[in-house]
Amino acid sequence: METQGKKVQKRLVLVPFPFQGHMTPMLQLGAALEQKGLSVTIAHTCHNAPDPSQYPRFEFRPLADNLTSLDTPKNIGVLNFIKKINTNCEAQLQEFLVQKIEQEQEGAYGQVVGIIYDTLMFCAEAVADKLKIPSMVIRTSFSTYVLATIAMPRLQAEGYFPLQDSMLEELVPELYPLRFKDLPFSGGNIEETLALYAITSNLRSSSAIIWNTVDFLEHLSLPRLQQHYKVPFFTVGPLHKTSSMSSSTSLLEEDKTCMEWLDKQATNSVIYVSLGSLVLIDAEELTETAWGLANSGHPFLWVIRPGSVIGSEWLELLPEGFIENVGERCHIVKWAPQKLVLAHKAVGGFWSHCGWNSTLESLCEGKPMMCRPFYVDQPVVSRFISYVWKIGLELETKFDRRNVESTIRRLFGGKEGEEMRERAIEIKEKIESCMSAGGSSFNSLNNLVDFFL
Ligand code: UDP
Repeated sequence: METQGKKVQKRLVLVPFPFQGHMTPMLQLGAALEQKGLSVTIAHTCHNAPDPSQYPRFEFRPLADNLTSLDTPKNIGVLNFIKKINTNCEAQLQEFLVQKIEQEQEGAYGQVVGIIYDTLMFCAEAVADKLKIPSMVIRTSFSTYVLATIAMPRLQAEGYFPLQDSMLEELVPELYPLRFKDLPFSGGNIEETLALYAITSNLRSSSAIIWNTVDFLEHLSLPRLQQHYKVPFFTVGPLHKTSSMSSSTSLLEEDKTCMEWLDKQATNSVIYVSLGSLVLIDAEELTETAWGLANSGHPFLWVIRPGSVIGSEWLELLPEGFIENVGERCHIVKWAPQKLVLAHKAVGGFWSHCGWNSTLESLCEGKPMMCRPFYVDQPVVSRFISYVWKIGLELETKFDRRNVESTIRRLFGGKEGEEMRERAIEIKEKIESCMSAGGSSFNSLNNLVDFFL
């Protein structure tokens, strides 16, 4: 389309959900699509809004979500938080799109050829339906986790919940290799968990699903999901490598001082500890983590997000004498430039909550992992890291400093650690080949673009 000699490109409207782990892959997808010749609009909530100056080529449309400072997932529950955002944003998204369609008819705006929305922003699907715009959902999590969420109502009907302790280590029927303790509970009771998955696993009228994953990592689950959903799949991950976007997608300010500290450490000596953007821990977990790290003898870079330790602002609950004990061997930040950290040669292992973005970032850098999953998709991912890909170790459920120390020593030392490191490098190389010309993710992204062009 041409207007006043200027080419007006086809446009996609992307509707992210305002959690860090959901926002980041959506922005990265936008950058990848934009590089392929599509124009991109990000219609986003005001809560956790992305910084437009980081993405000068995108159009941004804020949607007033009317959340108050008390409307946090912690205060009102994740399910209510999701519902409130959807209820409050739907009419504005519709109004915005109607306006754009009018401008499009006047030739002043690129044709809106599709809406891509996060599975938690399902109001976008309702709007797309009403306006007859093709829509597609993006799943920002591990697809095997989605398969597990679909199985939860069946397991409930078969009487497995509430889980008995004696069942925790047992394999779940039809979900190999997951054990009952790996099932994706949301952190609330089983009714809340099921209500959440009723929303997120419903495809509604989406014409396809975009997955931020790589085919070979999930060859057991993707065919089963395909049978379930019966729409085209685009497995375009890992999205942080798909585009050449260098802008930060962080909602918090990155503390880059840690890079200088890393430069001073020996190759593969540092354990990087980060539990993502949402996990909260209690004072006991903080204490055991601190002494476990101290006793391991390794240097460590530890992200402690302000507010992430229940009952404290930031570091007040660190045990007495800890900082003096570890001295220069420890570097603590509020938020790290994680992708740069994982790519640094000094980092020899990643202690993670096994969020999917963190895991993909680690896989792409060939780093062995220490798994401390909490809820939702994390236990499923942790099982794959430790049991299927064999590139990491799970911390025991009974978490204490001795277990932390011995797990770090196993991860860094001896034949077991060496083999995990070798396998992690193999996976990194396989991912690289999936992303290069002719590889599965490379082809999938091109197919996705063709779908819209
Ligand atoms: N992250 C970061 N700096 C930190 C901690 C995390 O940039 O100090 C980023 C990390 O790179 C990842 C995201 O935050 O992209 C966390 O997403 P993930 O899916 O791993 O976990 P969630 O926060 O959703 O639990």
